[in-house]
Formats: sequence, structure tokens, C-alpha cells
Amino acid sequence: MKRTLSLLLCVLLTLSLAGCAPKEETLQIFAMDTVMDMLAVGSEAREALSASAQEINRLEALLSRTRESSEVSAINSGKTVTVSDETAELLQRAVQYAALTGGTFDITVEPLVSAWGIHTESPKVLSADEIAALLPLVGSGHLHMDGRTVTLDEGCSIDLGAIAKGYASDRVAQIFRDYGVEGGWVSLGGNVYAHGTKSDGKPWSVAIRDPQNTAGAAALVGLSNQFAVTSGGYQRYFTAEDGTVYQHIIDPSTGAPAISDLLSVTVICGNGTMADAYSTALYVMGLEGAKAFWQQHSADFDMVLITQDNILYYTPGLQGKLTVDEGGAYDAKLLS
Ligand code: ADP
Ligand code: MG
Repeated sequence: MKRTLSLLLCVLLTLSLAGCAPKEETLQIFAMDTVMDMLAVGSEAREALSASAQEINRLEALLSRTRESSEVSAINSGKTVTVSDETAELLQRAVQYAALTGGTFDITVEPLVSAWGIHTESPKVLSADEIAALLPLVGSGHLHMDGRTVTLDEGCSIDLGAIAKGYASDRVAQIFRDYGVEGGWVSLGGNVYAHGTKSDGKPWSVAIRDPQNTAGAAALVGLSNQFAVTSGGYQRYFTAEDGTVYQHIIDPSTGAPAISDLLSVTVICGNGTMADAYSTALYVMGLEGAKAFWQQHSADFDMVLITQDNILYYTPGLQGKLTVDEGGAYDAKLLS
């Protein structure tokens, strides 16, 4: 009898523990022209994920340059428009990041993004004359803002493609906090946010994709309540008839796809929007420029740079968090 009772107690205890166990939910959506995956653990995990998906779709409707009804399309129409506080604030931040990065990140690069058409079915190699005709349209000075009233100079246009997913990841992080998500992560097409910890209390292990073998990882980094945003030429590109590969990040100073000695840049910090802007900018800057920029702003972010000659540089803040396969494709080197 005693045995039966204790067995019953055991079963009841297991059942009640299972009942209390926080739920793990996953969701995959396609938005902002990319696949997005999310995972959340918590009693309101499902609600948190559906609110996140709704928020991402709302932001896409607001910020997409290819949706006619978006605020960005209204700005690009050439008329003076009044935008939402949210869009005005994001534009202001974009202008700040352009100034901070010496214009290597610049949302007014849109006329060149469109003309090269690397996102489209019909990309085109521009001639030097075509580039020269469009380059004068690039520069934050063409964007005039007075509170929420925005005007662009004639012929100019903006593209928030290098910052919108990062901003969306910041919003998702807020939603995870609001819903009391215990642990989870989102990957918005190369923009990762790791929330809380795994159920064993350890940080989430975030893979930095191998730019030369995108099915594999070049490194793993343990993160908790942080963003890791990667930009690289390998993500979107086209190969011209002569075999030249043109990738999707434009160097605003030349008007052509950036020719970088970096294969990828991962920026790691507590701000998704900034990480997104910086990862694009550092790719354009190249190895030496990226190192110099980090030296000036080392309090703000950590980074992993993967170079054409197979070196993986990482900053001291990642010591003890980063795992690189010994004898793997890349030689890991600490920056200081
Ligand atoms: P992804 O959005 O593919 O993750 P990025 O964040 O690096 O990659 O953003 C690149 C996108 O931003 C391009 O596809 C283009 O739409 C736009 N863009 C290209 N070059 C620049 C640049 N120098 N500054 C700002 N936006 C850019
Ligand atoms: Mg970016």
C-alpha cells in the first residue's frame, strides 16, 4: 500500500511539474524579403510570437520601399509628407549613423540600389557614366526633416533595407520582455536577437554563418539579451556575363557594389538597429576601416570580421563566449 501511494505521489508530482513546465513555441514567417525564425519559452510564448509576427508585418508595411502604401514610398514620391513619429525617429537615427560611419551606411543610396537592381530578376552592370549621373543624388544632406515633415531633393530616394530588420529585432525584444518570455531567440534573415537563457541557464549559442559554406558555421557565440547582426557579400549577389560577382551592399562613395576584403561582418551589442547599420557600414569600410572604427567605438559594440584570407578577427568582449573550430576554415585572431 505504502509503495502504491508513493508511486501515485511520484506520478502526480511528475504530472504537475509537466503542467507547470514553460511552453516552448516556434514560428517561421516570410517578411521583409527574407525567412524569419523565432523561438520563445514561457507561459505566453505563443502570444509573444504572434505579436512579434504582427509587429514585423506592421513595420514592413510602414518601411518597405517597394510597397506603394508605405511611408517610405510616400517620402520617395518626391512630395513633402508628414510621417509617423516612429518613422521620423528612425530616419533621424539613420542620418546619425550615416554621420558616425562617414557615409559608408547611407539610406539615400537608394537610386543606386535600384539602378543596379541586385534584388531584382534583372540586375544590371552600370557604366561609369550611369554611376556618375546618380552619385550626386546620394548624401544625407538631401533629406530635409522638420519634426515629422520630410522632404527629399528632386530625384533622391531612400532605402531602409540596411536598418529595418535591426529595428524590427529591437521591437521584438521589447515584445518578448512585455510577454515575460523566459528565453528565446529570433533570426530575422541574418539579424539575431538572443533573449534570456536556455532552460539550463546557459546563454544561447548563436551561429555565425560560414560565408564560404553557408550551410556551416564559422563560429559560435554565446549570447544573452544581445543582438548579433551579420552583413556580407555572400547574402545576395549576381554574377555578370564576364564572371564578375556583384553583391548587394553599395559603397556610397563609388556608387558601385562595395569591393571589400571582408567576407562578412558581425556586430554584437545591445541595440539591434545600431548593429544593423554598423554591420553594413563596416563591410563597406573593409578590414582596416572596420578596425579603426571599432577602436573609436569599442565601448558600444563587439564584432567578428571574417576576411578574404580566412582570418576571423574578434574583439576582447567576446573572449570566453566565442568558439571557433580549431583546424577549421578560419584562423581566429583577437583584436586589441
Ligand atoms: P541585409 O538587409 O541583406 O541583411 P544589410 O543590412 O547589409 O543586409 O543591408 C543591405 C541592403 O541595404 C541592400 O540590399 C540595399 O537595399 C541597402 N543598401 C546597400 N548598400 C547600402 C549602404 N551602403 N547603406 C545603406 N543601405 C544600403
Ligand atoms: Mg545592415
